[in-house]
This record gives sequence, structure tokens and C-alpha cells, in this order.
Amino acid sequence: MSPLIDQVVATARESVALRLNQGSSGNISARAGGGFLITPSGRDMTALAAAEIVAVGMDGAYPEGAKPSSEWRFHRDLYAAFPEARAVVHAHSPFAVALACLRRDLPPFHYMVALAGGMDIRCAPYATFGTQALSDAVLAALQGRRACLMANHGLLAWGGSLAGALALALEVEALCGQYLRACQTGEPVLLTAREMAEVLEKFKDYGARD
Ligand code: 13P
Ligand code: ZN
Repeated sequence: MSPLIDQVVATARESVALRLNQGSSGNISARAGGGFLITPSGRDMTALAAAEIVAVGMDGAYPEGAKPSSEWRFHRDLYAAFPEARAVVHAHSPFAVALACLRRDLPPFHYMVALAGGMDIRCAPYATFGTQALSDAVLAALQGRRACLMANHGLLAWGGSLAGALALALEVEALCGQYLRACQTGEPVLLTAREMAEVLEKFKDYGARD
């Protein structure tokens, strides 16, 4: 079994341990060869066997009888749109879901919002799970970003590695929690475009960029 398949399984497990996912919610993929490896549909993320991970081509083809995640379309479209993307983590984590149910973008209330690549983290409009319409909405929200929220659904993050995508998903979830808490007490003061531009500049050489 390829070590990358094992890493996809381990990342799926970790996403539950980190409380980003539960049960069969969410899905994980990693670019491999001319396509990507993705978690199966409707399976408990903590009970996956390596043999259940599905190889999907960029044309959406997969082995007969295999059951790739219902969201393989946005994973495929994301890899096509972002050549640097090596892994994608989609999660139904509590605070991201809460904010996404308000259909609100995450504004620049904290400088770490810039970690996703821009001034804010957008919330993609609602579309039914597993559809091309959802993929189109997600791809539009990801313009110039490594992460987005998905209305009445969850979050998505991509990275240069499975560890990088998982770390960004975790950070976005933490930011959503921090923002919602601040909103309970008052109206958070937002950073200006100039302040965020300075952070974006500093982030170019901050930490591991995967
Ligand atoms: P899958 O089990 O098909 O990956 O679906 C889970 C999910 O999060 C759908 O958006
Ligand atoms: Zn989902």
C-alpha cells in the first residue's frame, strides 16, 4: 500500500481526534499522479481501511465498484485550479459550521485570517452536497485563498501537504470560534486593509508554507 494512502487514512482519523469532524462528515484527499486519492463516501472517518481510499482521475473516472467521497468534484476542481495544492481537507467543525449557517464571511478581526491568503475568508453560497453547483460556489470563494467556509455546511482548506491542509483547517476553525465569541460581547474592531496587507507581506516568509 502506498505511504500516501496511509497518510490520507491517518489524516482522516486525526481530523476526528482534533474535533474537526465526526462520524462520516468531511472528506480528505491528496494529489497523486495524474489525479488524487480520496476518502470513501459515507464511512466513519475513524474506521477507514487503506483499501477503501479511492483513486480518482482528473476526468472524474474511478474504478468500478469504488465509492469515492460524494464531494470528489470540488476536490478535482480545486486541484485543477491550484497547481500548488497537494491536499484538501473538508470538515464539518462546530464553529465553522455555526458561522457558515449565518452565511457570513470571516472578516479581518484577527491578523491570522491572512493565513488563508487574503483579507478575509469567504463563505461560499449554499448548494446541495456532492453537486457541481457546490464545487462552482466553493471554487469562486477560494479565489486567491487557501480556505473558505461553505454556507450551512462547513469549511474547506487546501495545502502543499496533508499536514499543511489539516493545520489550516484547524486554524480556520479556531478563528471562527474566536470571532463568534468576540461577537457575543460586542462588535469586533476590524483590521484595516493596510494592516492586513502588512501581515500578508510578512506571511510570505513566516513558518512552513505548506
Ligand atoms: P462523503 O462521506 O460522501 O465524503 O460526504 C461527507 C460530506 O462531508 C459531504 O459534504
Ligand atoms: Zn461536507
